[in-house]
Amino acid sequence: MTIEQFNFSGKKAFVRVDFNVPLDADFNITDDTRIRAALPTLKKILADGGSVIIGSHLGRPKKVEDKFSLRHILAHVSECLGVEVQFANDCVGAEAVEKAAALKPGEALLLENLRFYAEEEGKPRGLAEDASDEEKAAAKKAVKESQKEFTKKLASLADCYVNDAFGTAHRAHASTALIAAYFDKDNKMFGYLMGKEVNAVAKVMQDINRPFTAIMGGSKVSSKIDIIENLLGKVDNLILTGAMTYTFFKAEGGNIGNSLCEEDKLDLAREIVAKAKANGVNLVLSSDSKIADAFANDAKTDYAQNDNIPTGWIGMDIGPESIKTYAEVIKASKTILWNGPTGVFEMDNFSEGTRAVAEAIAEATAAGAFSLVGGGDSVAAVNKFGFADKVSYVSTGGGALLEAIEGKKLPGIAAIED
Ligand code: AMP
Repeated sequence: MTIEQFNFSGKKAFVRVDFNVPLDADFNITDDTRIRAALPTLKKILADGGSVIIGSHLGRPKKVEDKFSLRHILAHVSECLGVEVQFANDCVGAEAVEKAAALKPGEALLLENLRFYAEEEGKPRGLAEDASDEEKAAAKKAVKESQKEFTKKLASLADCYVNDAFGTAHRAHASTALIAAYFDKDNKMFGYLMGKEVNAVAKVMQDINRPFTAIMGGSKVSSKIDIIENLLGKVDNLILTGAMTYTFFKAEGGNIGNSLCEEDKLDLAREIVAKAKANGVNLVLSSDSKIADAFANDAKTDYAQNDNIPTGWIGMDIGPESIKTYAEVIKASKTILWNGPTGVFEMDNFSEGTRAVAEAIAEATAAGAFSLVGGGDSVAAVNKFGFADKVSYVSTGGGALLEAIEGKKLPGIAAIED
């Protein structure tokens, strides 16, 4: 079922959203992007004449704690949604049941933080540090058992289930995945945001328009290896950039000065080069760097070839030669996936390469390419440089997107689709 097709008139929908927004010390929301991202879904349900029961987590509580209460965001959710949203002080139990049952068409109820219950994540809490393996196993079994009851209680509040929380789609939690089993296929669906994320991922993982270029940056090869492995079976061009480049040059016997390097991953770097060759993938590493004599924005700078960085100097960003090469490859692409900066983009003097990549992707997108940007720092980069609306899609899910491009089927997606 799709949300577009579904008529919510007279129905109560349990909508799992990701309202895990940042709050300041006075509980003011400092960035409401996640709330606004769920509005199309919530508004469609209300406009159809349905009612919504909104479930979310906030932070990582290990017990009931006021600072993680969703009550802090209630007024802002009401304002964004344009209706007076009611609140249940507990996501399950008599109050939630009564308030959900009393909802009339067009009304909304926000439930208290789902993670106030260990059952949401299905992980035991409060175990003594010196607990034995048997005790740990017993606690795990107990919480898995009570998780079923908890999930059933959440499901019983509503007639249908809508998952619009892509940010937690890689977790098999009660409200993000397990709950879907209590609704038949005609009564469970993705929300609009989740649907857009799923389509964007499909365009880079399945329905690929070629040439397909992936740009993977960041600090460590080791943390991106599963993604790199998966992409080597899919892409035409793989640009590996950021600090991980230096591990590749070190593996070839180059002098990388004091640049970041994973000394124990030299073999891995050689294996990636060999695998790219075997798969016919054009592996693009940067050839030159902007280097600095200290890890600081105001350090002395120079340029060097990546196999000849002087001792005491650090590769901080790609150099002009690499910027040109990357731009040529990117602009000739029809599908582009970008995760991770080309350098220490947080420092203005080493942000040029990352900005140039964003620019090239924007240009390729304007010429008809599909571009997906996601995963932490690259999202921060497109926002910082003002390119967010010049790429096809900026993912809202960090960890979830990375797991999806590792080729994993995310539990939150599988629960609806399978
Ligand atoms: P990751 O969290 O693995 O995606 O890596 C992102 C981080 O890598 C950013 O904070 C960048 O500052 C950092 N980074 C990128 N290039 C370099 C570099 N050449 N040297 C040190 N850190 C870098």
